[in-house]
Amino acid sequence: MQELSHYINGAHVPGGSGRFADVFNPATGEVQARVPLASKDELDAAVARAAEAQPAWAATNPQRRARVMMEFVRLLNRDMDKLAEALSREHGKTIPDAKGDIQRGLEVVEFCIGAPHLLKGEFTDSAGPGIDMYSMRQALGVVAGITPFNFPAMIPMWKFAPAIACGNAFILKPSERDPSVPLMLAELMSEAGLPDGILQVVNGDKEAVDAILDNDTIQAIGFVGSTPIAEYIYSRGCSNGKRVQCFGGAKNHMIVMPDADMDQAADALVGAGYGAAGERCMAISVAVPVGDRTADALIEKLVPRIEKLKVGPYTAGNDVDYGPLVTGAAKERVLGLVNSGVDQGAKLVVDGRDFALQGYENGFFVGPHLFDHVTTDMDIYKQEIFGPVLSTVRAKTYEEALSYAMDHEYGNGTAIFTRDGDTARDFASRINIGMVGINVPIPVPLAYHTFGGWKKSGFGDLNQHGPDAFRFYTRTKTVTARWPSGLKEGGEFHFKQMD
Ligand code: NAD
Repeated sequence: MQELSHYINGAHVPGGSGRFADVFNPATGEVQARVPLASKDELDAAVARAAEAQPAWAATNPQRRARVMMEFVRLLNRDMDKLAEALSREHGKTIPDAKGDIQRGLEVVEFCIGAPHLLKGEFTDSAGPGIDMYSMRQALGVVAGITPFNFPAMIPMWKFAPAIACGNAFILKPSERDPSVPLMLAELMSEAGLPDGILQVVNGDKEAVDAILDNDTIQAIGFVGSTPIAEYIYSRGCSNGKRVQCFGGAKNHMIVMPDADMDQAADALVGAGYGAAGERCMAISVAVPVGDRTADALIEKLVPRIEKLKVGPYTAGNDVDYGPLVTGAAKERVLGLVNSGVDQGAKLVVDGRDFALQGYENGFFVGPHLFDHVTTDMDIYKQEIFGPVLSTVRAKTYEEALSYAMDHEYGNGTAIFTRDGDTARDFASRINIGMVGINVPIPVPLAYHTFGGWKKSGFGDLNQHGPDAFRFYTRTKTVTARWPSGLKEGGEFHFKQMD
């Protein structure tokens, strides 16, 4: 069986703790590799080496740092097929979806090529007599990222590309469920010219995460994953004096107004609800049709589309709409929630519980499910399911539909389907959710905007990628400089007026 490694100082390093986790092939259910789980000492040693390497990297001019990113983009494109195959084999998503995962990370790397411009400070000439004032954006030092299983290429790149472009050294603790692609990305960064020690991949579980939280050298932590872990990392990281941003779970509502194009809305819901087996933080998991006629029409359009979905292994290429869940435990959890929905009185319109695929009986596949008449007290409504399950909550009015999305504890993404500009505008203005789609079901912002949820979906005050990432990974220093000509005055004991 393949034994994976850490990536330290530009080389693969075997695990030294004696602890490992199994990495599955979700399509077959087989264990295909084991990944080492770092001890606190291994994590601390990786940080110490990063700290040695970081000052020279921060002193490298930003244009040269950007050139590493430029070359990295070329290498990502060169190895796209290889990366996508490795990603699908461990995660289970289809090859086109794996390429999308890589592409959305690559686009953030492209944005980071603009680092020289983004890192420019501000300057005030002659703020006082002989006085200039300027601010600099300086790297923090060693920073860390802790990432989830569901985007094993995109989210590590969202974290390490801006951090490294800013002049930091980066400790990446990827998900232990699909660690191969993060290791391959680190190799490509070395090949692109990144000095050793600037990107350290330390595989692990809670022990490595706690070591990151308690390491005094690490200045900032970016986390993406489930909300309970986000809250834990945010509070412990902040109390240890670090800069922390954590992005958590989601329950994204899509409101369907009576005037919406029902075919468009149904197509959008099928892609956004079942794509990647629902394992996306921007998946739509709740449809909110306004009025019973809208709801009946929507369900009628949805059912045949859902029944036609092709579920299978990534090796079937473009013939598959979505693949298996990531682990057997994830499958059990999703099926348990589906059963709870039935027990609590929701109407299961499409039942995927008995789904089986010949030749893949041990894979973690789950058929598509559609619920109608879901109410807000049910577990399938309150919890993030993270599986191919779409719940329909019927609303009588637009205000009621809006209140469902507003009152839910999560606030990552949402969408409205309507042909009325006034309703769409009102929705975008009033909704308390970070990312909003108008006739767009998965409104993931592009690299040069920023990505982040509100409420229990995001902790910290800056978003991911875009200009916010350059703020998060730098701190501002403001210099007031006087070059007096002539007279030297005595000391001053009050704030000087700039006159
Ligand atoms: P997870 O919370 O289980 O794991 C995320 C990371 O935290 C992993 O690296 C894991 O090793 C670590 N971790 C897990 N348990 C820990 C513990 N007890 N102590 C310390 N560290 C721990 O999340 P996941 O299952 O990998 O990913 C799915 C979740 O991520 C979903 O909730 C999804 O909505 C969310 N997500 C959010 C966004 C976003 O931007 N808001 C994006 C992608 C995924």
